[in-house]
Amino acid sequence: MNKIISLCKRRGFIFPGSEIYGGLSNSWDFGPLGVEMKNNIKSAWWKFFVYDKQNIVGIDSAIIINPKVWEASGHKDGFSDPLIECRECHCRFRADHLVGDDVWNQEKDFFDTASEQDREKRIVDLIEKCPHCGRKKTMTAPRNFNLMLKTYLGPIEDKNDLVYLRPETAQGIFINFKNIVTTSRQTVPFGIAQIGKAFRNEITPGNYIFRTREFEQMEIEYFIKPPKQDSDWECVFEEWRKLMLNWIEYLEIDLSKIKELNVPKEDLAHYSKKTIDFEYSFPFGVKELYGLAYRTDFDLKNHETFSQKNLKYRDPITGEEYWPHVIEPTFGLDRTLLAVLAECYKEENIPGGEKRVVMSFPKWLAPIKVAVLPLLKNNEEIITKSLEIYNNLKGSLSCEYDESGTIGRRYRRQDEIGTPFAITIDFESLENDDVTVRDRDTMKQERVKIANLKEYLKYD
Ligand code: ATP
Repeated sequence: MNKIISLCKRRGFIFPGSEIYGGLSNSWDFGPLGVEMKNNIKSAWWKFFVYDKQNIVGIDSAIIINPKVWEASGHKDGFSDPLIECRECHCRFRADHLVGDDVWNQEKDFFDTASEQDREKRIVDLIEKCPHCGRKKTMTAPRNFNLMLKTYLGPIEDKNDLVYLRPETAQGIFINFKNIVTTSRQTVPFGIAQIGKAFRNEITPGNYIFRTREFEQMEIEYFIKPPKQDSDWECVFEEWRKLMLNWIEYLEIDLSKIKELNVPKEDLAHYSKKTIDFEYSFPFGVKELYGLAYRTDFDLKNHETFSQKNLKYRDPITGEEYWPHVIEPTFGLDRTLLAVLAECYKEENIPGGEKRVVMSFPKWLAPIKVAVLPLLKNNEEIITKSLEIYNNLKGSLSCEYDESGTIGRRYRRQDEIGTPFAITIDFESLENDDVTVRDRDTMKQERVKIANLKEYLKYD
């Protein structure tokens, strides 16, 4: 991880947030290469799940929405993690993380009902010493800590103006369900997709961009007819499970590094009847990358109760009215980027006893597709020709022009940022109107006519 973090900073993928002010813990800024990759992932995801499907449409809903939404969705009361604190060093932890999921599930009922004194006694038995300062028997009783970030709308910090930054993008979809049905001509089954920021006041953020308090989600709510039997929703769930695996393959993530975890009943979110977590083997452990949940009709039903508006769907042919049930595939954008960075980082020995670091990104995902490198920086003819090629390519491909340093060093730099093609313009180019094109992965070089370059550099 440290090597990836250092490369990402050095090359302009990801910077520590607010660095000149000493930073802000667990916040990150995406630099010129990071933003290219995020945009590439977002547009590929949109093409994969929206444009290539007939029955999925998009939305971009507000981040701050009526706080009643969070009452209806269950987030106001239920979206919390068990927080404990060491009385000595004041470090805070998630009790479930420290004792482990299995033990926590066995103890959950006790912690929900017992007195504070008894809860503290039990937690001290379970966690004998603080993982940070090592002192013994210092943990406080767990208390439920709501993860929603709060702010106030308007000039007065009054409790009536209290609002939340959305902890998931999904609710913006549910509250627009009727708008979309009436305007988009979609009939059940159909889906609504959204990409956008979400915020969670995580107790223990960390592992680089894996768990942060501000992140981006890519989510689909897929509406189906209320199932008559389990197999009715299970087959749609299975289709989405396969589609999610197809997407992971498209990212060129090795499927042997993906583990599907059937989330045990006790761990399911309040709205879910079944959830599969797609876990990826990150350098710091096997952790959740994506999730797929069967949310039943929980959300639309509750929004109808709280808003007092009819949110039922009316079948245009049969006239039947119902709350559609929902299958929800959800993808973290930042975790996608992290998985890709981890998957593609390679250190290789190359002929001549040298070493190189290469990011073997899929071509469509690479932040820069082509580097244009004049062999010499003080030859006017070579520079003119190089700039001509660069200007001709840059409208259709993300290109970088680099004339500084030896050609070997320039190749190394492009390998580190995962550029699939490097074009070198030399003396022969002036005579023959051709260039060498170096392939990032094989390091093989081929001479290509300048007139054929665009065709040669095409990728899917
Ligand atoms: P975790 O168990 O890791 O906290 P979760 O089950 O709470 O995740 P979901 O509510 O299912 O996560 O959110 C959907 C997706 O959003 C996750 O699969 C993940 O990719 C991403 N995600 C969730 N929380 C964060 C976070 N704090 N930072 C970055 N990405 C996140």
